[in-house]
Amino acid sequence: SLPYIVLVGRPNVGKSTLFNRLIRSNRAITHDRPGVTRDRMEGLVRRKGLPSFGIVDTGGITLDAHAAVTEGPAGIRGFERDILAQAEAALAGAAAVAFVVDGRDGLLPLDEYLAAHVRRMGLPTLCVVNKVDGMEREDEQMAEFHRLGFPLLPVSAEHGYNITALCEDLAALL
Ligand code: GDP
Ligand code: MG
Repeated sequence: SLPYIVLVGRPNVGKSTLFNRLIRSNRAITHDRPGVTRDRMEGLVRRKGLPSFGIVDTGGITLDAHAAVTEGPAGIRGFERDILAQAEAALAGAAAVAFVVDGRDGLLPLDEYLAAHVRRMGLPTLCVVNKVDGMEREDEQMAEFHRLGFPLLPVSAEHGYNITALCEDLAALL
């Protein structure tokens, strides 16, 4: 079967928007691999001249996780566990990781926390800096993410900026 790449990142960075951009009209398909959460979405990335690969959106923020966020630091542990459980199930068979961050919010503690886990997986990883919606602030928006230690690519899932480059860079991780 095809190698697949997992989208990992805290809620609201734009993973699902990117997922939809990447799969275009390719129907999302579901797999019943063991340990897979109900929220998991898998699709196919196909571009002319590139090897095809699967993409997995580790999607879902549960109501409990949402409560944990609104409860602040006291609730954050359960929230992190929830995201990590999904990500780790998906990462078990993955070829590479697209670690998605939000170029408007900047680098947050939860990004660093998740990045540390991704780093420990030892998989080829691209840091996708999403919501870079205009070129004028691109350098500024990118700057603080260098410290994560992953190669970076600015994109805008909403406007379609750099989506072709994203497909190329992801295919190059396989
Ligand atoms: P997820 O929780 O990581 O799956 O994030 P979503 O894909 O659900 O997106 C969260 C929010 O960010 C939504 O309101 C999206 O419309 C918005 N969003 C996604 N990509 C972009 C982008 O490139 N630019 C901007 N400005 N907003 C975006
Ligand atoms: Mg989502």
